[in-house]
Amino acid sequence: MHTLTRIAVPHGQGRARGLGAAELGVHGVEMDNLVGLGLPVVPGLTIPVGAGEELANRETAGVAIDLLEKLAVRGIWPAVRTERRPMLMHLRCSAAVPVSALPPAISVIGLSPRNVDALVDVIGRDRDIYDSWAETLRFIAENALGVDADDLDDVVDDHSDSRARVPALLDLIVDATGVAFPADPAEQLGLAAKAMLTRWASPRGQRARKALSLPDDLGIALHLRALRLGSWNESGYGSAVSRDLETGRYSPSGVFHLGVRRTDPEPGPGEPLGAMPGGTAILDQIFATLEPHLRGVAQVEFEVRDRQLALLSAGAVEHPGPRAITTLAVDLVNDHAIGRREAVAMLDPDLMQDLLHPQIKLTGGEQLVARGLPASPGAATGEIALSADTALQWAAQGRNVILVASETSPADVPALLAATAVLTSNGGLASHAAVVARGAGRPAVCGATDLRIDRAAGTVTNGDLTLTEGEVVSLNGRTGHVYRGAVTIRPAEPSAELDRLLGWADDIRRLGVRANADNAEDAATAFRLGAEGIGLCRTEHQFLGDQLPLVQRLVLAESDAEELDAIAALTAAQQADFTELLRVVGDRPITVRLLDAPLHEFLPADGDYRDEAQARRAADAHESNPMLGLRGVRFAMVQKRLYPAQAEALFRAWVTVHADGSTPQLEVMIPLVSLPGELSRAIAQVHEAAAAVTADTGVMVPYKVGSMVETPRAALLAGSLAEDADFLSFGTNDLTQLTYGFSRDDVEKSMLTHYLEHGLLSDSPFAVLDPDGVGALVSRAVLLARSTKPDIKLGVCGEHGGDPSSIDFLNSVGLHYVSCSPRRVPVARLAAARAVLTAD
Ligand code: PEP
Ligand code: MG
Repeated sequence: MHTLTRIAVPHGQGRARGLGAAELGVHGVEMDNLVGLGLPVVPGLTIPVGAGEELANRETAGVAIDLLEKLAVRGIWPAVRTERRPMLMHLRCSAAVPVSALPPAISVIGLSPRNVDALVDVIGRDRDIYDSWAETLRFIAENALGVDADDLDDVVDDHSDSRARVPALLDLIVDATGVAFPADPAEQLGLAAKAMLTRWASPRGQRARKALSLPDDLGIALHLRALRLGSWNESGYGSAVSRDLETGRYSPSGVFHLGVRRTDPEPGPGEPLGAMPGGTAILDQIFATLEPHLRGVAQVEFEVRDRQLALLSAGAVEHPGPRAITTLAVDLVNDHAIGRREAVAMLDPDLMQDLLHPQIKLTGGEQLVARGLPASPGAATGEIALSADTALQWAAQGRNVILVASETSPADVPALLAATAVLTSNGGLASHAAVVARGAGRPAVCGATDLRIDRAAGTVTNGDLTLTEGEVVSLNGRTGHVYRGAVTIRPAEPSAELDRLLGWADDIRRLGVRANADNAEDAATAFRLGAEGIGLCRTEHQFLGDQLPLVQRLVLAESDAEELDAIAALTAAQQADFTELLRVVGDRPITVRLLDAPLHEFLPADGDYRDEAQARRAADAHESNPMLGLRGVRFAMVQKRLYPAQAEALFRAWVTVHADGSTPQLEVMIPLVSLPGELSRAIAQVHEAAAAVTADTGVMVPYKVGSMVETPRAALLAGSLAEDADFLSFGTNDLTQLTYGFSRDDVEKSMLTHYLEHGLLSDSPFAVLDPDGVGALVSRAVLLARSTKPDIKLGVCGEHGGDPSSIDFLNSVGLHYVSCSPRRVPVARLAAARAVLTAD
């Protein structure tokens, strides 16, 4: 008796005794919780990890049974252990962590030839009882009594009817061990515990632990419960889940098996829940308690005896999908079961992305063609087009095309926008194709390095597999997988519930959320998705496609007159684009970044030069490292007419839009600054343009001027930059490139996968901000800038502005806003709110 409190812990008493999963196993804790919630639970107790062997002592096992009997009587069951209704028991186990390869449950302990007939009478059907009995005998004989497994299999095979199998097994046990299988429940319990522990310790159990990377000495707790038997057609067992996992609507569903037998595999398909003796109202009550507690879609296993339901287990459905979680979270708030902050905390922003983009629904028969980087989320099906021209032509005919290329350049943008998706064999997450596709909301897979693209032959090859241009493929921009042929694609599923949840997130977050948008259409998308302004308008993107020659003319101008002409054309084109964009922006803020064009992206392709002289100028302009060359503000220092012209176009556009009644809050931004002198001179150019516009129009255009911080030197000199700048915006794409010295266009194909596979990096630093290096520069720059100008506005406009874990970091360093691709805006809103919740 003295060992009782140590070896047997009734469900519901573990926590009070200071015991957790390490002692009680996950199931013991789960049952504790259910009792704590006041839910009907099958009476039972846990033999903690390490105590199971003690049940081999008959007296100890007897004490545990006596305790269980008291619990059963006190619990939901009426008195048990009458002559006709002996108490039968069920034993299962669990470890401190969820394990899928545990020994099976032992379904009935306490049966003997002496009591079986009376039980069959109560139940009204002998099959239920004999099936369970045979299984129990088979398991204990092999694992606790050392009976040969082949001999046991022979008996099972020779006796398909369990009523004959049970006596045959009992005979085999006597033959093999020289002793009859005990009728005494306490002895049976000792053997059952031994069988379970032996199985867990066996080579088979060791292999399972190894496969799951679990410690070999991981122990198991044993869970013993009372089985009260009622008439078979008033009893049964089943499982149910609270919600429709597709929509998240409350709609309990499940199966119910009439009868007493409870074994694996389940016999037959079962019956609908409605067939449950006693009705399903109790399930509604259980789910109403469980869902707020679990903050998840609830699933339960239960049994019904004589029309009374009791839980065998309960937990949250794993990975129910973002739509179900969203609906559940909003329902729980509506029911006053949880608060809005708790609801916002329920939805993982990474997961939420799936609601905003079409999704591939795999059926299992798909043929994988290639695997690349998940460069832009969403899914699409289309015909392979191997050139921009073909893509444009086919798209114009209304065909769905997937542009497949080794990489893309600004000249390919119209084709990229016409295509339903893009697939590249080179380039990483910050490559041209990836950035443009994300901005335009096209799914993209980049850096599928196994693909060989032969444009001349019109083929795409991966090993033995060759696809020809025009063949249909499907890609998943979330996983980087490309499949042959058309697959089922589920459309994006934004819902009213998601809008509500995001509205609550807006009330919580501290960070502003803006979007990177270069044209009116993208800006409109961003505002529809909740962006508060534009944090980055890359003006070089306004010169992609048809407008490319405008920049080419400037770069390749051979005389002052040609240069002035080029500037005039560029100004006019920009003014029109800005006007259209500012109309959509309305009264919101917009950060317009003056040209930052790596020259190689803008020079004509070889052979496309007007004449020898122009080809020579292009050759002169050629750079070995264009990303480190005459880019950003450096070009404006050399070509002094460019920034004033751009600024003038912007200010004139503002005057036009303002006259029509809106007041965009202009912020002019200077890119790739390293020297405070570069910034001050560029700012002087902008002021010059503003003065010229005022002189011409009589309107004083309000604007702020700021700098990007995207070189390590700029971060280290942020205090000096802040003297001239009204705001600073971290360009974490270039800052990552320059801090690591990783080429943003190359490393993902050349080494990143290797680094990730070998644990040198845990994420691509172009996708998830590196808090230790790049992040340290950002933190330091924030401190330096604020020490010069405490109220200076600080934001981020690199791709990290839309990544949840980066947002968490950026929130912690106290930035004012993040800016990201339009379609990532909802993700950023939610992530910014969650950053506040986790920081609190
Ligand atoms: C950056 O470098 O983070 C940035 C926003 O600029 P871009 O990607 O245009 O170089
Ligand atoms: Mg940059």
